[in-house]
Amino acid sequence: MLDDELSLHQIRDAFLREVERRHAEHEFTTDYRALAQRLGVTVVAGRSNQAITTSGERFIVVDEQVAEQRARFSGLHEIAHHLFEESEDGYLRARLKDIFHHSPEAAKHHEEDLCDAAAALLLMPNHLLQEAVRVHGHSPLTALFLVTRSGASAQAALRRVMWHRDVPSFGVLMNAKGLVLDSVNHGHAKSYPIGRNFLVEEQHALRTSSFAPDIMEMFDAPVPFSNGNRGWIMRVRACLDGRGRTLAFFNRAEHVIRIDDRQPALF
Ligand SMILES: [Zn+2]
Repeated sequence: MLDDELSLHQIRDAFLREVERRHAEHEFTTDYRALAQRLGVTVVAGRSNQAITTSGERFIVVDEQVAEQRARFSGLHEIAHHLFEESEDGYLRARLKDIFHHSPEAAKHHEEDLCDAAAALLLMPNHLLQEAVRVHGHSPLTALFLVTRSGASAQAALRRVMWHRDVPSFGVLMNAKGLVLDSVNHGHAKSYPIGRNFLVEEQHALRTSSFAPDIMEMFDAPVPFSNGNRGWIMRVRACLDGRGRTLAFFNRAEHVIRIDDRQPALF
C-alpha cells in the first residue's frame, strides 16, 4: 500500500471515530435538526445542500423540497462537513489537502466520500448496526432491518452493511422490471463497477427467482455487470424490500456465514 493510501485510511478511521464520539455526546440522535442545534449549527432551508462557516458562525443549507429520507441524509452529510472541519483542530482536513495538493478537486471529492460515510454512521449508528448483524448476519436482511429501524434509504443501508465488513462484496438494488437502480462494489482489489440504470437480462437468476418480502433466498449466479461480463459466479443472497424491489448481496461462497437465513425477519 502506498503511503498516501495508508494516510487516507488513517484519516477515514480517525474521522469516523471522532464522529462516533461526538454523536455519543448527543445521545446518537439521528434527527439532523436536533443534532445541528446541539452542535450550535444553524439550519437554513434552501434549494441546494451546503455547509458554510463565516466568521465563526456555522450553517448548513438543506434542500427540504425532496423526499424526507433524502433530506435527512443530506442534513447529516452537511453536519459531517462541520465535524470534519473541526476534527483534530483542522488537522485531518489539512492533511487531506496536503495529500491531494496536486488536485484540490480530488481533495474535495474525497471529503464528499468521507462525509457520506459519516452521514451513514450518524443515521445508522454502530449499536444499531451491531443489533442488525446479531439478528441477520451480513446479508440483505441486515440492510432491510436498518431501513426499518433508522428510516435510511435501501441504498444507504446497503452501503452501511457492506462497508462494515472487510470482505469482497457486490450489492445490487433492482426494481421489478429488472432495472438496476443502484449497485455497490466493496473490498475488491480493483474497481469493478456493476453500474446502474441498465436492465438485467430476463434469464438471469435474479429475475427468474421469485422472492418474498423479508425472506432470503440463496443461490449461485453471475455478477450482472452492465458491460455484459457474466464470467464471475458468486453466491447470491437476495430478498424483496417493502417496495417490491430486489436487494441482493454477491459474495464468494466461503465468505457467506451460514445462519438460519430463511427464517422470517424479526421486525
Ligand atoms: Zn458534501
